[in-house]
Amino acid sequence: MDNKTIARKLRLLSQLMELHEGNPFKIKSLVNAAFKVDKLPFPAKSKSAAELEKIEGIGKSTANKITELLETGTMAELEEYLEKTPQGVIEIMGIKGIGPKKVAVIWKDLGIENLGELFYACNENRLVEAKGFGLKTQEDIANAITFSMASHGKFLYSQVRTQADELIDQLKGLFPEGLIDCAGEFRRCCEVITKLILVVGSRDLEIAINTLKGSTVLNELSLEKNHILGRLPVGLEVDIVCVEKRYFYMELFVQTGDEHHVKAVLERSTDEVDQPTGEDLIYKKSGMEYIFPELREGVTFIKKAENNTLPKLIGHHDLKGTLHNHSNWSDGINTIEEMALFCRDELKLQYLGMCDHSKSAFYARGLSAEQVLKQHVEIDHLNKKLNDFHIFKGIESDILYDGALDYPDDVLASFDFIVASVHSILKMDEAKATSRLIKAIENPYTTILGHPTGRLLLSRKGYPIDYKKVIDACAANKVVIEINSNPLRLDLDWRWHQYALEKGVWLSINPDAHRKEGFLDMQYGILAGRKGGLYKEKCLNALTLEEIKAFFDHLKEEKQPKTPAS
Ligand SMILES: [Zn+2]
Ligand SMILES: [Zn+2]
Repeated sequence: MDNKTIARKLRLLSQLMELHEGNPFKIKSLVNAAFKVDKLPFPAKSKSAAELEKIEGIGKSTANKITELLETGTMAELEEYLEKTPQGVIEIMGIKGIGPKKVAVIWKDLGIENLGELFYACNENRLVEAKGFGLKTQEDIANAITFSMASHGKFLYSQVRTQADELIDQLKGLFPEGLIDCAGEFRRCCEVITKLILVVGSRDLEIAINTLKGSTVLNELSLEKNHILGRLPVGLEVDIVCVEKRYFYMELFVQTGDEHHVKAVLERSTDEVDQPTGEDLIYKKSGMEYIFPELREGVTFIKKAENNTLPKLIGHHDLKGTLHNHSNWSDGINTIEEMALFCRDELKLQYLGMCDHSKSAFYARGLSAEQVLKQHVEIDHLNKKLNDFHIFKGIESDILYDGALDYPDDVLASFDFIVASVHSILKMDEAKATSRLIKAIENPYTTILGHPTGRLLLSRKGYPIDYKKVIDACAANKVVIEINSNPLRLDLDWRWHQYALEKGVWLSINPDAHRKEGFLDMQYGILAGRKGGLYKEKCLNALTLEEIKAFFDHLKEEKQPKTPAS
């Protein structure tokens, strides 16, 4: 074991001690010793404990620890601390700029146990008000996490979108006839991107590479056969495939769809299409409608394309309102009025559903029953004031461990609609998680099932559920399923949208906004919905204000017990 490794282990021990509020003197002497060992001009392993002890700044107790480390490969005390610290918290400690004191606040006060949860909390602005943090620290942490994700080579779509779009825009202007387009995961709008593939209709690699050098968002250029490789500033790998002009569309088609899709289409081809002048011709020759890139996953939509029954995919202009959003009544940043005005004036929407957290979500300042009443008074007041716009009274009710909702029935009955979500005790087996959700779905007050699995992409798997059982229960109980549009969630996963739609379940593109800008996340929900084959007729927030009022009224009428006349 070299000095650097020893120093690192001593430092880790000191950090863990600090995290667990150990003796400050011991912590300080370990920090000093780590520094000293790191700088020793000879290997520590060449010395005995007695010799180490004599070195200034090491001392007896640390000398013994080093000897133990050299002999056994570890230290009993370190192992003890590791045992009582979640692995994810140790990873958080590895993020640049977060010392043990901050990690303690993150873990113990905010209940965050891994990098994904921390990233999510930064996006929801949850760190700003915590002790010792501020806006700047929060931003630094979010950036550091993005950087550490880059080392795994995987990115959220939202993390690479701006740079990828910029690159393509720059290059479109540079290549003659604009024969350049994106392909692969990015063109299919996948939720996670591992490589940005571009196709260029030029075999003159000299010209191509010189042109590519003109881009300010492409680094580390290199050449490999007909591929030009590079990297976006954010760290994503870029692969640019150069083909002769006449093969451009075929290559674009092949590079866009996943393997099963490409194979299924080409198998059905009636004659040679090696030099098509557009992708639509490739589908035509195979006897099918043009399939949008988002849908080119597997064979799900092949039959529909053959029968001319592809869904007319949902688009931005189809959305008429937004449900499931938070204000400063719980853990949001903006007031209800600010949120409403942004929706009305900037986004040209007709309605806003407020869904602050319910009382069990103490970490998010969930609303007590009294606060709910007060909030309703404020909403009534705003509804009188705002022209051509309506705010619905909703709540994001925690689904408790036994599947119950978070308020007594009379409070639940006072809302226009309710989003029911799991936020606590996420560690469950599939049977438990499924029955917990189904119990909540069967509650007559539940309108929408929020982020059904609790996953955070690239970091937290979410609890395992039996998707079919959960979706079937939603169908049976007329519960809408959310497509949570936060780019870290995108939950319900698009792979289950078709099953839900076949069962007649409505989906809702919910931003879960915690500030005005959060509404813009709806764009990612739309992409997820498009990938799942969602169309406006089954999207809850594509209903107009009048339609959705009738929808909520009808559900209440049908599902909720009648309140006895007083
Ligand atoms: Zn939630
Ligand atoms: Zn929420």
